[in-house]
Amino acid sequence: MTESTGNARTSGTARVLRMSNLFARTLRDDPSDAEVPSHRLLVRAGYIRRAAPGIYTWLPLGLRVFRKVEAIIRDEMDAMGAQELQFPALLPREPYEATNRWTEYGDGLFRLKDRKGADYLLGPTHEEMFTLVVKDLYSSYKDLPVWLYQIQTKYRDEARPRAGLMRGREFTMKDSYSFDTSDEGLDRSYAAHREAYVKTFDRLGFDYVIVKATSGAMGGSRSEEFLARSAVGEDTFVQCTTCDYAANVEAVAVPSPAAVAYDGVPAAHAEQTPDTPTIESLVAHLNQAFPREDRAWTAGDTLKNVMVMLKHPDGTREPLAIGIPGDREVDQKRLEGQLEPIEVEPMDETEFRKHPALVKGYIGPGVLGEESASQIRYLLDPRVSEGTRWVTGADVAGQHVIDLVAGRDFVGDGTIEAAEVRDGDACPNCAAGDGHGTLETARGIEMGHIFQLGRKYAEALDLKVLDENGKLVTVTMGSYGIGVSRAVPVIAEDNHDDAGLIWPREVAPADIHLVATGKDPDIYAAAERIAAELGRAGVEVIFDDRPTKVSPGVKFKDAELIGVPTIVVVGRGLAEDGTIEVKDRRTGERESVALGDIVRHLTDLVRG
Ligand code: ATP
Ligand code: MG
Repeated sequence: MTESTGNARTSGTARVLRMSNLFARTLRDDPSDAEVPSHRLLVRAGYIRRAAPGIYTWLPLGLRVFRKVEAIIRDEMDAMGAQELQFPALLPREPYEATNRWTEYGDGLFRLKDRKGADYLLGPTHEEMFTLVVKDLYSSYKDLPVWLYQIQTKYRDEARPRAGLMRGREFTMKDSYSFDTSDEGLDRSYAAHREAYVKTFDRLGFDYVIVKATSGAMGGSRSEEFLARSAVGEDTFVQCTTCDYAANVEAVAVPSPAAVAYDGVPAAHAEQTPDTPTIESLVAHLNQAFPREDRAWTAGDTLKNVMVMLKHPDGTREPLAIGIPGDREVDQKRLEGQLEPIEVEPMDETEFRKHPALVKGYIGPGVLGEESASQIRYLLDPRVSEGTRWVTGADVAGQHVIDLVAGRDFVGDGTIEAAEVRDGDACPNCAAGDGHGTLETARGIEMGHIFQLGRKYAEALDLKVLDENGKLVTVTMGSYGIGVSRAVPVIAEDNHDDAGLIWPREVAPADIHLVATGKDPDIYAAAERIAAELGRAGVEVIFDDRPTKVSPGVKFKDAELIGVPTIVVVGRGLAEDGTIEVKDRRTGERESVALGDIVRHLTDLVRG
């Protein structure tokens, strides 16, 4: 470990934090704006305070945890051979203009002007700046590969800041970037980062899974996310029951079934289906008025056409129709994941009125598509493949078409992965071969994201170096992020109980929470000596030295809430038989240790 916190416990002296003057106030009640346990506990235990929506102040206890998390991340980045630098957070517009992100980031960017009227932004991420600094300093293949990183404050005007530090509008990110001349070089840089991330997350102390990801607004190819498994997560991911496939739902690509022959299928026929604007009412009516011989009609036999509006970053709007099997809903995140940076909204009444061909509840492929009367772009779910038969709207109120065959009677303008992914869906990886794995969904919090950017940024900003033959080649890049401030609540989510936080030792604000109880001045004197000796041994101590008017009950409650892994009580035991109680915050196990042995006992415990 490089900086202040890491080696303090084995080398020098550690300063004792005294509860009597610690800048914190523990709260018995949950803050009203906290939706998730980590947020409630971090506020109640005096780690953070809200400054504005999505913007938080680190109090002394919180800052200690934050710095330890940061030290672990820095340690692993340094160990892999990446070099730390630091960009400003206040950035000029021009580089972001060159890559079009000044526009693409839309409302997500904090923009400001200087006194001369020039445009600036608060950096949401720093690809542009890293690209430019390498261009500034390097010009030959001999200089590459190079891996650079920073741990720095980012600003994003998130639409929905949430769960305290989890989704902030100001937050700390570790972002690194690799620069190579060849694709193989990029693969190596990517693999090295992946390995460093595994080591980092193994040390941070929460349960995580590595999943395939989309690369979002960044462009590029190979991409994986490190998700903390958590029911309060905003991301949904899938895992296969049989193979090792794992992916963010946004990245799940449903295999398109092979084309089926439709020679014997009767011609499409429109039928009266009065009062059937919903899939449910339609299926009931089909089974009653047009029963099938082989089986009953189901929602999966129907083709539902969902109308949305695309909002482009430059503010322009465009209608889009999405055709999906009627037994599925459109998943907004999957849809937006495909279209990023475009945002998607439902189609409103005004827009509907602009397209008289659209009959609400009975919209069919007949009026959709760039070549159609409406000229509305029409994208189909991959399951609506060549030869599949559908019941869908006939574009007349109260009528549907039966036996409409994809490829024979209609085609879309392309396909889109917008339908929800469900538990039990076939695995796109192994079910396509001879396997029969199915998907299980679960929730997670994105803690890290690694991806191969490729040459997009280098091309936009003209980052080239001379190769072995003296020819200019465009550099290929990787981009790798970790949510440093987000890690604090994520660790807390995985490490708490009803009474409070339970920090893993490596990130805890202290090693020992030493509590002195009772009225006997000798007890306080003994506790003082223990605190001082532990401090000299490099053990970090929070010492509850508050006077006797603070009851033992309050002290114990605070100790449990704050969540240091070992709680040591100097109290009645000392007077009775000369022992001190050592309690494990996680397991609740207690043991009595003789006064003469306590410092050595605790020092050994802490050094593990
Ligand atoms: P998300 O999907 O959660 O919005 P992202 O994909 O936009 O995140 P990246 O650009 O990949 O985020 O940023 C790298 C890392 O920074 C993320 O993996 C996450 O841990 C962290 N991060 C991103 N946005 C925030 C935020 N608003 N607050 C705290 N941490 C964040
Ligand atoms: Mg990401």
